[in-house]
Amino acid sequence: MNILVLNCGSSSIKYQLFNMKDQSILAKGLVNRVGMANACIDHISGRGPKIQIITDVIDHHDGIKKVFDLLVSKDHGVIGSLDEINAVGHRVVHAGEKFAGSVLLTDDVLEALRECIIFAPLHNPPNLRGIEAVSEYLPKVKQAGVFDTAFHQTMPIKAFLYALPKVFYDKDRIRRYGFHGTSHRFVSKRAAILLKKPYETLKIISIHLGNGCSMAAIDCGKSVDTSMGHTPVEGLVMGTRVGDIDPAIVLHIMKKYELAIHEVDNLLNKHSGVLGISGESNDLRDLEEGWPNRSPKANLALEVYSYRIRKYIGAYMAVMNGCDAIVFTAGVGENSSIVRDLVCQNLDFLGIRIDTSLNKKTVRGAEGDISTSDARVRTLVIPTNEELVIAEDTLELIEGRLDPKTGKPAK
Ligand code: ADP
Repeated sequence: MNILVLNCGSSSIKYQLFNMKDQSILAKGLVNRVGMANACIDHISGRGPKIQIITDVIDHHDGIKKVFDLLVSKDHGVIGSLDEINAVGHRVVHAGEKFAGSVLLTDDVLEALRECIIFAPLHNPPNLRGIEAVSEYLPKVKQAGVFDTAFHQTMPIKAFLYALPKVFYDKDRIRRYGFHGTSHRFVSKRAAILLKKPYETLKIISIHLGNGCSMAAIDCGKSVDTSMGHTPVEGLVMGTRVGDIDPAIVLHIMKKYELAIHEVDNLLNKHSGVLGISGESNDLRDLEEGWPNRSPKANLALEVYSYRIRKYIGAYMAVMNGCDAIVFTAGVGENSSIVRDLVCQNLDFLGIRIDTSLNKKTVRGAEGDISTSDARVRTLVIPTNEELVIAEDTLELIEGRLDPKTGKPAK
């Protein structure tokens, strides 16, 4: 059983073809700069070396066609024909309040996802274009949607409602949705396995630190709060996104500098975060180079970044009345011992204590417990694997173990 996982971004297409018998990756790659000059495809077949193919990629349809051609090509292919793709799973960013689980894609589901474009104008349209392209090239193959927002649909209204006049929720569905749900779900479940305790009994704080960053409070297997909000700009300080700020600052800046809406949008999404504070880089690898001697601005960016995470740890412990484990994941969370150290220093009162040498020794790509033996709260590093979750959900949907319309375990 081969499952293709697609993640179509605004100018990229990430793909992985899984053999679900042993969850091995037959091929994977990234189509870069879709619809732009200098497009190319980075492709890896099996364990082979990465090859780069320079080719025009007019749009997502064209990109997906080129991925299919590669998968069956004589030189770099891994399957004899497209008939060997049994199902396709798509990452879809926003499913609004309609879906609390992964579902098989039907016309009705696609219509519901189109209605969510207003909430995720940069993400849902390319996600949908990917689905449409697969329908055209593989009309008989079942497709599943796995949504970033779905895992957080268990949040209670007191956690997701903003204190705006309620009409904005009732009429416009303005509320906290949360994102990175697939990653939070995966690493929190892995944490339960590492702790050898039932998932449904644990209180877990999951900390996803990639280009975008978010945290989730997961109580007895359910997301009860998360730091990203109506959009992925709220919450933690990110590479280029601002995270929490006083909303009145936006009005003040717009007025003083006579900025248009798209200029403020750009400012908050592309020029803020650690890039904005440091003025040097959005990449934590750069800011950490020579730490703490690179520059006062780089140090300040790292301190503000880590301090925000500490505040959310405290908040989520209060939300859940305790915590069994905190989990660091994604690019920064998995690799940066400096950030983990800055976050976890002096949290003994909350039961969090990390072993500095274990923290430094954690090897890239490996799961590990970096707490001291006497820590009440375990601090774990767990590599995320959203593609595998999408492949697994797709398999369970097509095999009938998940209800195709709700994603809940089938009766
Ligand atoms: P995405 O959010 O796009 O899925 P990742 O989860 O891979 O991306 O995270 C990318 C970020 O991870 C990069 O911007 C970089 O700042 C950070 N990162 C990657 N490796 C390291 C490292 N060794 N040390 C610190 N940060 C790292």
